[in-house]
Amino acid sequence: MDTSVWTQDHAWAAETLESVNPATSEVIATFPVHGAAEVGAAVQRAREAAAWWAGLGYAQRRTRLLAWKSHLTRYLARLAELVHNETGKPLADAQLEIMLAIVHIDWAAKHARKVLGPRRVRSGLIAINQASLLEYQPLGVVGVIGPWNYPVFTPVGSIAYALAAGNAVVFKPSELTPAVGGWLVSSLREVVPEQPVLQLVTGGGETGQALALSGVDKIAFTGSAATAKKVMAACAENLTPLVAECGGKDALLVGADADLDAAADAAAWGGLSNAGQTCVGIERVYVAEEVYHSFLEKLAERAAAVRPGDDREADYGPMTMPAQVEIIERHIADALARGGRPVVGGLSSVSRPYVGPVILADVPEESRAVTEETFGPTLTVSPVRDLEEGVRRANDSSYALGSAVFSKNGRRALAAARSLRSGMTSVNSVIAFASVPALPFGGSGNSGFGRIHGADGLREFSRAKAITRQRMRPMADLTTLRRSDKDMNRVLQLITLLHGKRYR
Ligand code: NAD
Repeated sequence: MDTSVWTQDHAWAAETLESVNPATSEVIATFPVHGAAEVGAAVQRAREAAAWWAGLGYAQRRTRLLAWKSHLTRYLARLAELVHNETGKPLADAQLEIMLAIVHIDWAAKHARKVLGPRRVRSGLIAINQASLLEYQPLGVVGVIGPWNYPVFTPVGSIAYALAAGNAVVFKPSELTPAVGGWLVSSLREVVPEQPVLQLVTGGGETGQALALSGVDKIAFTGSAATAKKVMAACAENLTPLVAECGGKDALLVGADADLDAAADAAAWGGLSNAGQTCVGIERVYVAEEVYHSFLEKLAERAAAVRPGDDREADYGPMTMPAQVEIIERHIADALARGGRPVVGGLSSVSRPYVGPVILADVPEESRAVTEETFGPTLTVSPVRDLEEGVRRANDSSYALGSAVFSKNGRRALAAARSLRSGMTSVNSVIAFASVPALPFGGSGNSGFGRIHGADGLREFSRAKAITRQRMRPMADLTTLRRSDKDMNRVLQLITLLHGKRYR
């Protein structure tokens, strides 16, 4: 494999990290571990790049981002191969995440001006002598700290929107996927050679911390809630704002009137694809009791046919992060010890670096497999009276990221979707919201805060700027030391007239 495109000269680096194929343990490449000095230098370079990039304006940024999109599309196969090698996920899953990233770059590039550009707003009667202007300006330099499970889709969800909003980005990919991170940075350089508007820094937690402490204008963090707390503490040093996209414990609800085949397909894919290493993967399923047994049978049939492996026919790959296997084992053991029933697989499904599909039924709600993020190919399935009880159980979680509802009754499904506390819900499908670039993506509680994607995602990387321009003298000037009682009374009368009516 030609690694020259994304490796860099790091002969000077005191420490290095190896990127390793999790299926074969083959070393893919080595990267420097950047410390505070190198991170600081990157941020310094980014400041200049940010000024140049902001100065280009919306039209030129759009053209360049669309060129990046088309570059990624043309080289999709190469990038997918790298994602496959570095994460172990099947090639088709790698292609899928790149396709989604492409759609997001396209949307961000094409909508930035409309969402963020200058617009006049009504001044209102009291300020009728003012012309009012609102615009969203770039923040400057955004630090993006990424995870390994979707090393293209996830960071691009921040990078594309931050760039489209006129910022420069310093990107620290996960220490498990630095090669994919490097590829992304090199690919943007191909189409924007003038200035380093997207730079790579590599390393583990300490490099991420250096970025959070570096005085960038915002951090976009994706990772676990535990790490988000450390990042937030580091950001607090300089009052650096933070958008935190963290883990989930997503639930899928199956109503009594649901299409059970579609729901079982969705639960199987939502829970098992990418070896369950998906922040918006399904981990809990709540099924109306009338259809519980039929659903469980259908899900078990599908899950039993699923096989992990490194070959082209495998449904999913190895666990990318070896340490995750212990967490998965602990959750399965705890669920079984508390009386949960293994329907497909169990502890014997663990065969490092692979974990076969595990379906657990009737697991008590206080079990770790129900309360904590498992991040493995496991699903708990429990009966509930109806969708309303499913919503209550789904909401009874410290996480609130995504969710799914299956029901043929559109009104009931929508009511359930609205009552779910998660930031995103798909009705009669799973994870569909991630493929709609106009929709914001993010959660609350342990799932984080702030939004990427869509108009909210563009605004997340901007600062609102409000401008008024006085067009004529006011009919009554109240903001002068020479204010008269007559003027004050006129405005008081006007306010009473406009707002004093009794409301019932
Ligand atoms: P992680 O929290 O271990 O690491 C995430 C990133 O933070 C890595 O780049 C890591 O090097 C860096 N980091 C570690 N310690 C740091 C510190 N003290 N300061 C700054 N940076 C630090 O998460 P992970 O294992 O890479 O990813 C898996 C987690 O990410 C799961 O919880 C998953 O649900 C979540 N995730 C969320 C989303 C989302 O959009 N909500 C998307 C993908 C993954």
